Amino acid sequence: MKVLGSATDLSHALDSSRALGRSIGLVPTMGALHSGHRSLIDRAASECDVVVVTIFVNPTQFGDPHDIETYPRDLAADLAICAESGVDVVFAPPVAAMYPDWPSISTSVSVGIEASQWEGRSRPGHFQGVATVVAKLFAMAGRCRAYFGEKDFQQLVVVRRMTRDLAFPVEVIGCPTLREESGLAMSSRNRLLTEQERGAASVLARALAAGHAAASAGAPEPRDVVSVMTDVVAEEPLVELD
Ligand code: AMP
Repeated sequence: MKVLGSATDLSHALDSSRALGRSIGLVPTMGALHSGHRSLIDRAASECDVVVVTIFVNPTQFGDPHDIETYPRDLAADLAICAESGVDVVFAPPVAAMYPDWPSISTSVSVGIEASQWEGRSRPGHFQGVATVVAKLFAMAGRCRAYFGEKDFQQLVVVRRMTRDLAFPVEVIGCPTLREESGLAMSSRNRLLTEQERGAASVLARALAAGHAAASAGAPEPRDVVSVMTDVVAEEPLVELD
């Protein structure tokens, strides 16, 4: 397994693989890898000759300084998981390799309506940061398939739109959400929760299931589905609906 930190090294490595006729599967992550990430890696390995995992806690997608300071990081454990999973290349760049003039950034990618509503409304600038870093990773990686989780569904929509609009030679593949037994979606940030908070967070999965059931039973309007889900979330005092 190669561990690379410079954009040029990544581009050269993947150009050499393509020259040998090998297909590339790219799995962008922010590290603190768990079974959800592994499912993306396994899917990439089943469909591509060379699997590349990128590990980069992207500063431009964080609005809250506390959030980026506390974001879980464990490169040694991540490299062990990648090695065990048969990953060929890990790209773990320092901030300066991704943003040469950091903290100044002149060019960034913004996506329209897909990025500005829902989570985008609560986290201004978040999806612009995501679209920018993914565009850069695509530019460095070149022609490939790229694997993203449906857990971050709006992110997947933003990335698909950005890829089409900017004509990247990348096929974006959405992968199903891996969940804990409680229904809670696996997430690096779950490490930051106490046991009690973790239990409370499973209300999100119950709300989704209730919304799904209401929609399947023919709820007449989207707002009726929202209302069913809101009622479920309201049962959990530790969870505040955003
Ligand atoms: P992150 O490291 O949180 O930025 O996630 C990297 C990629 O893994 C994103 O495409 C996520 O949507 C995906 N991912 C994270 N958690 C899960 C999960 N529980 N199931 C499936 N994919 C996931």
